Amino acid sequence: MKILLVEDSPTLRHTTSSLIANAGHTAITADSGEAALQLIEHAPVDMIFMDVEMPGLNGFETTRLIREWLGDHWVPIIFLTGKNDDESYQEGIDAGGDDYLIKPISPIIMSAKIKAMERITSMRDQLNKLNEKLETLSQIDGLTQIYNRRTFIELAKREWLQMARRQQSVTILMMDIDHFKLYNDTYGHPAGDIALQKVSSAISQSLHRPDDLVGRYGGEEFIVFLANTDRWDSVHVAERIRQAVESLKIEHSKSPSHPSMSLSIGGAVSLKTTGRNLEELIILADKALYKAKEKGRNQVQLG
Ligand code: GH3
Ligand code: MG
Ligand code: MG
Ligand code: MG
Repeated sequence: MKILLVEDSPTLRHTTSSLIANAGHTAITADSGEAALQLIEHAPVDMIFMDVEMPGLNGFETTRLIREWLGDHWVPIIFLTGKNDDESYQEGIDAGGDDYLIKPISPIIMSAKIKAMERITSMRDQLNKLNEKLETLSQIDGLTQIYNRRTFIELAKREWLQMARRQQSVTILMMDIDHFKLYNDTYGHPAGDIALQKVSSAISQSLHRPDDLVGRYGGEEFIVFLANTDRWDSVHVAERIRQAVESLKIEHSKSPSHPSMSLSIGGAVSLKTTGRNLEELIILADKALYKAKEKGRNQVQLG
């Protein structure tokens, strides 16, 4: 661990940093509270040993400022002090300290404290990782591994604003699998799930630009956001998606519109995004989708 030692006495700084090094860790030293604040602003540390009595900012004040600076990121702070009265102890914990050791410190206690704090920081790291995982899990649709509806809308809104600022166009494509209920009825729900996975990955793979977004809008409905794509290119992308699904050749023998699984696509383009909002564009794309269904399915319609 990288351990910051804040200590104004040169002698104690020397002996304590040797203890830290002997316990197998890297000591970084600061000779005042002010120096400590500057240090952690520039380089993160894993743990802090903090003297209390120092000229300038004392250890309690420095700790309060460090906690403010670090915010949610918890780093263990242990006071090393000669003040062994109860009030000081309480003040130290209130200031944001995690433990309070009275000088002189025995090497064994020192390395045991470091070990204990190391255990807690590793739990903190695990918790952070788990939280990150949870966050991505809740953004991604479990079955198809693309954005769920809520996340898609959130990201699309954000990108919409960017496009509006740059006066660039936005295209929304709404897609719906043809006769999917019949597919489930014929081949079973688990087969339907597999088909949904294949269709969604065919859609994703048909999009080549990093700004393009794809989401699962509903059961067998998908939505795509194309940034800065004119009408002709939008039709081209939609057609590529439709063909990609057709090329999967997922047998759908009872489908009245096509012998294999097919997709109907409706699109709407907002050339200067200032006039409309995202919701309106989605509604227009949905109307175009309805038209694609009406005209016989397995086709693209742009509103
Ligand atoms: P259309 O061509 O008009 O779109 O007909 P459709 O049968 O595809 O449309 P409808 O909306 O009637 O049916 C959608 C079906 O999608 C019904 C529902 O059971 C199925 N579905 C929705 N979500 C899932 C899912 O996660 N897994 C599976 N296997 N089926 C799903
Ligand atoms: Mg001191
Ligand atoms: Mg549907
Ligand atoms: Mg459908």
